Amino acid sequence: MTTVRTRIAPSPTGDPHVGTAYIALFNLCFARQHGGQFILRIEDTDQLRSTRESEQQIFDALRWLGIEWDEGPDVGGPHGPYRQSERGEIYKKYAGELVAKGHAFPCFCSAERLDQLRAEQTANKETPRYDGHCIHIPPAEAQQRIAAGEAHVVRMKVPSEGVCVVPDMLRGDVEIPWDRMDMQVLMKTDGLPTYFLANVVDDHLMDITHVLRGEEWLPSAPKLIKLYEYFGWEQPKLCYMPLLRNPDKSKLSKRKNPTSITFYERMGFLPQAMLNYLGRMGWSMPDEREKFTLAEMIENFDVQRVSLGGPIFDLEKLSWLNGQWLRELSVETFAAEVQKWALNPEYLLKIAPHVQGRVETLSQIAPLAGFFFSGALELDAKLFEHKKLAAEQVRQVMQLILWRLEALRQWEKDKITACIQAVVEHLELKLRDAMPLMFAAITGQASSVSVLDAMEILGPDLTRFRLRQAIELLGGVSKKETKEWEKLYAAIP
Ligand code: GLU
Repeated sequence: MTTVRTRIAPSPTGDPHVGTAYIALFNLCFARQHGGQFILRIEDTDQLRSTRESEQQIFDALRWLGIEWDEGPDVGGPHGPYRQSERGEIYKKYAGELVAKGHAFPCFCSAERLDQLRAEQTANKETPRYDGHCIHIPPAEAQQRIAAGEAHVVRMKVPSEGVCVVPDMLRGDVEIPWDRMDMQVLMKTDGLPTYFLANVVDDHLMDITHVLRGEEWLPSAPKLIKLYEYFGWEQPKLCYMPLLRNPDKSKLSKRKNPTSITFYERMGFLPQAMLNYLGRMGWSMPDEREKFTLAEMIENFDVQRVSLGGPIFDLEKLSWLNGQWLRELSVETFAAEVQKWALNPEYLLKIAPHVQGRVETLSQIAPLAGFFFSGALELDAKLFEHKKLAAEQVRQVMQLILWRLEALRQWEKDKITACIQAVVEHLELKLRDAMPLMFAAITGQASSVSVLDAMEILGPDLTRFRLRQAIELLGGVSKKETKEWEKLYAAIP
């Protein structure tokens, strides 16, 4: 019997997302339940957006939760390398094979031609799709043009009619018409593969037997299935997991819910509780009990118990469950958890230089710097009344800074300052116009330690969360404002 092998294949392009942990958890449980292996592969073919910092954050966040993998970039294994950026030659070889077999073709169309095509199709209310312009170029001619250095991509051929049957472990056979599929680019002009090619090649070469992935990938499943067929490979069993949702049923998004795992760590959730809650997303124990450990989940796991109604990721429910976990700890363990969370030497050492010169007794530390040990703050709207700026401008400046900080990858004081600087300059304001607002949002006080230092120490998750909280307190941002301000934001150099 073949060994069950599952994997998680995150792209390291941002904060470690709770959705990644959710999918990882189910893949882990499935593999363990069958005595199989669970692999971590990094899909970093998007060179512009992928970073090593983000990759490291994914490793750390999953480990914090208690999710361990048997093979991966950091632990090695017999199917490496486990980073797609290190597998370039492999994809080239397989793309070449598809072209040679006539299942794929080089395409020389310029970006302008494709833009124009898309514009025409959209105007005619057609689904934008590649029109097959380069499909009939004789192979010898194509080879010559490539040899002469002409820029090109490789596209796969797809049937133009009929339906593709996607066998989903949860939904049964799902039929998707072929005319919805584009002639997908498999290799980009830079010689790197797209998700589709790299994903299929790697799942095959890494002997993956079952793929549990998010349901957002279901519409593109036919292209993967076709690729398996073209290569003559057996396709893994497919399972499209329901998407996590905000309480209003929309897809979980950071605008409505913090989505970074590190946020939950900073807020003082227990990793066991977090994992337990993710296990409750669309799944339940046979006896419906709410609180269970990873080991219990593995022991009782049955993927068929996943229900398709979109599971709601609700902060209140998670907090309730976390409370259950906290209350059941022994007092000693509880105290140890508090220490580990924020009363640890490492964290205190970061704060100490900023408070030492401002207190006469140690007991003044809590009133001065209590916000370092809080999550959400009780904010006072009065602190946001501004001498110079109207209420709308106050929200605007804060929102633009928030967006800028959301995109900031290296969380350091001077980089944070540069974000704020860029926004205020663009709005023709001064740093001192924006700083009191930052101060109020981040510390919740009228005076305390330097807010830029505080932001660096608090970290990106809590800083962004508090800014969001403050903007909400002041009335939030309307849809119309979002549109206008996004334009303004895009123009900031
Ligand atoms: N790299 C994809 C992602 O970031 C992987 C999706 C899949 O599991 O195939 O979600």
